[in-house]
Amino acid sequence: MSDTPKSHGRLSISASLQPRDLMGETPRLKGAWTARVITLFPETFPGVLDASLTGKALQQGLWALETIDLRPFGIGKHKNVDDTPSGGGAGMVLRPDVMAKALDQAAIGTKGKSWPVIYLSPRGTPFTQAKAKAWSEADGITMICGRFEGVDERVLEEYAIEEVSLGDFVLTGGEIAAQALIDATVRLIPRVLGNQASTEDESFQHGLLEHPQYTKPSQWRDRDTPEVLLSGHHGNIAKWQRQMAERLTKERRPDLWRAYCELHDRDPDEDQEL
Ligand code: SAH
Repeated sequence: MSDTPKSHGRLSISASLQPRDLMGETPRLKGAWTARVITLFPETFPGVLDASLTGKALQQGLWALETIDLRPFGIGKHKNVDDTPSGGGAGMVLRPDVMAKALDQAAIGTKGKSWPVIYLSPRGTPFTQAKAKAWSEADGITMICGRFEGVDERVLEEYAIEEVSLGDFVLTGGEIAAQALIDATVRLIPRVLGNQASTEDESFQHGLLEHPQYTKPSQWRDRDTPEVLLSGHHGNIAKWQRQMAERLTKERRPDLWRAYCELHDRDPDEDQEL
């Protein structure tokens, strides 16, 4: 605890969930941003979130992760969580009554707080950097990881759950998507990423993809680092980086480029300066 700066606030352990649901005994800062994840596979967490910056911040209590195992809420001796789809068809569907019990547990202590409840789903709105920013400003988030054919529609309606997608493809379960979305969100929480300025300058932050990056050696296999980057002229460097960001965005993401031009009153078909 001695390496946690005092200015971050008081450390405490949340008592809101059953001990089996807490991710270890990591101390957390009071009011730390918290991700609650409803999953049939709690052992897959924290997974990749335990590495590098997100992992360090998790250990320091700058954010918290709580998994809620869906299985114990299952029905009967076998703790069944799913059943066959109404109307027939392949696969199984997660039952609304079972999911509701997990959602009620996830809701403990969130009343009056800013706390989105999300179902990870290929049918959802595509996740964006803007959404990550908005979530990072909330008190926390609850995520449902689906499995099989997904979740009964009625529980999504009843709890006014927002569906969010990682992209236009189908995963086996929501766990990888949850980790991706939590990663993108957590790194925007002030103090989590060491160098806050680096998030201000990234892809999507200004509606553009990021310019190419170079490092040492300045010459490698007959390839030179662009001269301007070695010039030390900050004005020219910034101008070059913006031009490259615009060019890349125009070439690779015409959708982003059109939106950017509209916002900045620019002609999307204008010739690039470079
Ligand atoms: N039958 C569903 C797919 C179910 S895939 C359909 O066609 O829409 C099983 C689970 O994996 C889903 O419930 C969801 O939680 C997760 N999942 C799959 N693809 C995803 C994606 N692109 N984004 C987020 N979650 C996804």
